[in-house]
Amino acid sequence: MTEYGSDALIVCDNIVRIYQVENIEVQALQGLDLTVDRGEMIAIVGASGSGKSTLLNVLSGLDVPTAGQARVAGWDLLRMTPAARLAYRRKVVGFIWQQTARNLLPYLSAEENVSLPMSFAGMRSRRRIRRTAELLDAMGLADKARRRPGELSGGEQQRVAIAVSLANRPEVLFADEPTGELDTATGEDVFAALRTANRNLGTTVVIVTHDSAVSSQVQRTVAIRDGRTSSEVVRRTEVDEFGASAVIAREYAVLDRAGRLQLPSDFRSSLGLKRRVRLELESDHVGVWPSSKEDD
Ligand code: ADP
Ligand code: MG
Repeated sequence: MTEYGSDALIVCDNIVRIYQVENIEVQALQGLDLTVDRGEMIAIVGASGSGKSTLLNVLSGLDVPTAGQARVAGWDLLRMTPAARLAYRRKVVGFIWQQTARNLLPYLSAEENVSLPMSFAGMRSRRRIRRTAELLDAMGLADKARRRPGELSGGEQQRVAIAVSLANRPEVLFADEPTGELDTATGEDVFAALRTANRNLGTTVVIVTHDSAVSSQVQRTVAIRDGRTSSEVVRRTEVDEFGASAVIAREYAVLDRAGRLQLPSDFRSSLGLKRRVRLELESDHVGVWPSSKEDD
């Protein structure tokens, strides 16, 4: 048997993250499984407090899980030296925060912000200048290169932040509610910029979002509930016999490695499924029944 997720770019296997606050334990992640393939662009959704930011902090190397396994592009996130962690954060991943002000240095121009990570990485000035111009151009900001963050709109600042995060050609971009502080139209521009990074530069993109306009436009949306992946919506475009195309969205429950799956609460309540259920294996599906009265 091949290793779980061995061909995926991102693999989370049963990650647990417990925060200890005084004498209280908070289980932010409770055995979360997720795989993301190279080149994918996915959305992560879930109620406030469900563990989305914790997951992104783990994947971007800012935080270390309490247990489980997490690998990104072959880097083992639980076993990294501090030097490897720094290299990972500089070269392998890019990160965009919701708070626009947190992404950029306020006293540097857009082009100086974009250029900075490349100087840290030791890139020569001629290449750096060329790549900065290319990135700002790709983000639709060629004419605003000399402006400082305070002279740009919120959406423009987020697009500069995307250019900064792409500077060192990361394998994957993580964005935690990048459109959360923006109005709808501006949020669409930022989403379009992330899509450009994915389609034109081949960067894998993982976006945490509340915004249904964003989550409905990616191929896969992963829902997190109580620190676990609970369901996934996969979208594909189908062309009918008349040549008209339509996006078909299908929801799947997530089956973990141990074979556990969560039944949606409306299914449970409408059939009165509690504590135990009867399962029957059919040739092409599995049936789930409430346990009968005599069994209780
Ligand atoms: P989301 O981003 O989905 O809103 P978070 O990942 O921020 O959720 O939080 C998940 C849970 O972990 C919440 O109950 C939150 O209060 C808790 N939590 C997050 N960060 C910390 C922390 N640094 N210390 C203690 N508890 C935390
Ligand atoms: Mg959050």
